[in-house]
Amino acid sequence: MDTSRTSNLLPSGGGPYLINNLGVILVRMKNPSEAAPGFQTLAVHAGRNVDALTGAVTPPISMSTTFERDPDGGFARNYNYVRVGNPNRTALEACLSALEGGAQAITFSSGMAASFAVLQALSPRDHVVLHRDMYFGVRELIDGVFTRWGLEHTLVDMRDESAVRNACRPHTKLLWLETPSNPLIEVIPIPPIAAMAKEIGATLVCDNTFATPALQRPLQLGADIVVHSLTKYLSGHGDMMGGAVVLKQGSEFGQRISDFQTKGGVVLAPFDCWLILRGIETISARMRIHCENARQIAAFLSTHEAVSSVHYPGLANDPGRDVAKRQMRDFGGMLSFEVRGGQREAFQVAAHLKLIIRATSLGSTHTLIEHRASIEGVHTRAPESLLRLSVGIEDANDLTQDLDQALKTLL
Ligand code: PLP
Repeated sequence: MDTSRTSNLLPSGGGPYLINNLGVILVRMKNPSEAAPGFQTLAVHAGRNVDALTGAVTPPISMSTTFERDPDGGFARNYNYVRVGNPNRTALEACLSALEGGAQAITFSSGMAASFAVLQALSPRDHVVLHRDMYFGVRELIDGVFTRWGLEHTLVDMRDESAVRNACRPHTKLLWLETPSNPLIEVIPIPPIAAMAKEIGATLVCDNTFATPALQRPLQLGADIVVHSLTKYLSGHGDMMGGAVVLKQGSEFGQRISDFQTKGGVVLAPFDCWLILRGIETISARMRIHCENARQIAAFLSTHEAVSSVHYPGLANDPGRDVAKRQMRDFGGMLSFEVRGGQREAFQVAAHLKLIIRATSLGSTHTLIEHRASIEGVHTRAPESLLRLSVGIEDANDLTQDLDQALKTLL
């Protein structure tokens, strides 16, 4: 990264700045020779500066939809219209780009819009290979919209390299994985899939929503593009919807994704950007508690008489543990478990919970439980006995006690 460049987006008198190779300001440095800031520092500072006009430490929300043009017709202050760009979006995108170690982040109004943006950058008759356990919304998007549009796809178990190789065709342009996956919490090794993508000239996309960059940095592991639902851990409080695509480097493919934002108009409002950025400041602290709580709950569930299996890579016998240890900083806050019995027993446990809330979504401070088979529909891979937990940041003992009293109704 070039730490010596400045930009006219900066307040006067600032700098030096850490700027990535597309000219995006990531963070202000004390002096140009110091080491690049750590992840926690970037989460708090990247993309933000003390407001030059007022000294405001928290960035102001810039609600203007339009921006004054220079007398000569130019836009020396960089902004012209809110859909094309605004200061709060610049700040959020600079921060996301810094956290993932990417060249450019492009934000959208939801995680689905971010996924849509990537898929529409392909061409009809291109072929995509996807991990078979994936967020069902993206699978439905491919089945329901992109198949009609002419995109071909194959679902495989991407933990098996030879299965991925066999699924690839001469016109395979994209490999798409989610790790850990939803809802079976499978862990897919990113580097070998990245090597294969490179060999066949395809783009590797990794949905990093479950892990977040606090735990896993797919671009450093060889992926070309990271996709996020910002609705989850990054905003972190269950009160915000957004999505992002982070590119390792600029490309024509990346430009098509960026065009979908500005020309397609599936953008975040300035206040949305501001709220998400506020959530991101505490991502490291929150993830530590999510992981610690999930570890305790997984250990508790794995010895419970009413539970037949637990899917969590932090457990010693989990098939994904070794890969997770190699590519993740910790094992995350998502787990799923199967109760002894089927749908009736799973519903019974969920119905008896008092603290843990029966609701979809994940990554917020509250612990949420969900019966995935009934929400995902006919193509689900989730067994009827499976419940997914998004472990929150409450006291772990309160959560295990709540699960215990609900599970005991099965005994
Ligand atoms: N990716 C994953 C892994 C998800 O779990 C979700 C939603 O649950 C999405 C993408 C879609 O995100 P959004 O709901 O923000 O559109």
